[in-house]
Amino acid sequence: MVLKMAKSKKFQKRIIISIIILILMIISYFVVQKNISLKLNGNSKDKIIVNNAYYEEGYNANLFGINLNKYVDISNNLKNDIVGSYKIIYKLDFFIWEKEVSRTVIVEAKVNLENEEQNNQEKDEENSKSDTTTSKEQVDVKIPEKNTENLYPAINGYENIEIGPKYVNGILIVNKKFAIPQDFKSPDADIASGALKQLQAAALLDGFSIELLSGYRSYNRQKTIYEKKVADRGYDSADRYSARPGHSEHQTGLAFDVGSITYTYGETASGQWLNANCAKYGFIIRYPEGKEEITGYGYEPWHIRYVGLEAATEIMEKGLTLEEYLGLD
Ligand SMILES: [Zn+2]
Repeated sequence: MVLKMAKSKKFQKRIIISIIILILMIISYFVVQKNISLKLNGNSKDKIIVNNAYYEEGYNANLFGINLNKYVDISNNLKNDIVGSYKIIYKLDFFIWEKEVSRTVIVEAKVNLENEEQNNQEKDEENSKSDTTTSKEQVDVKIPEKNTENLYPAINGYENIEIGPKYVNGILIVNKKFAIPQDFKSPDADIASGALKQLQAAALLDGFSIELLSGYRSYNRQKTIYEKKVADRGYDSADRYSARPGHSEHQTGLAFDVGSITYTYGETASGQWLNANCAKYGFIIRYPEGKEEITGYGYEPWHIRYVGLEAATEIMEKGLTLEEYLGLD
């Protein structure tokens, strides 16, 4: 009898302990559920112009300060070449806990030139637009087409200009000597945008968000920028840092300013990643350090130019400039 009572007491004790454990488990489930967080970097609503690269700003998943990003899956059906509204879904799946957030990306039709000029009065243009549009503004320009050399004095490397587009071994060259016509944009601009998107995605996986700061710029936009610099600082200074209209690689749609427009960007981890990996996506650092005599520009660790995989690999491996690679130096 005594033995039996002792046994049943022990049993009761076990039940109570089991219930306590169960309650603790339920409480911890809810504590984790309440504290696990999944937040988007950047806006939950984004807009891009059709055929432009979408820059994915990423997300942050964590629990009590512990990073859970590796438990997040992204489902993304964004097609940047088709106008529409897209939803990118981010799903955190951490053991028995789940969280989901989404981001809406609107791919807009190309903006018209008048709106664009207004939007870009202060800010550098990041998004491409139709270059075939016959704009009022282009019609109003009083200089004849293909005649950039007569606009400004023939100094600072802008002597004996050739109006291209000039291709060497299938690669477009735009610099102080070789200009492109006002209405020219490279037919490979979309490929370059796609390659940039891949580069950004790869960088993000390695922990660097390499933001697009400036992409395609129209002839007229470049003209505004350049002439403002001339008005502020004169030709010599303007020609060192800013391209004349028709001479900017940004007009090709193949060049992008990324990361940070600072001379020390090349020393940062992000800038070093870009330098080491850009060739894998067909890009080169177009204006390397110490090559000003050849390229006509000082070091620009942020300016990348799409030239395709093969050329990019050789240029970056051998530390060449595009001019040297093409035999134009
Ligand atoms: Zn640039």
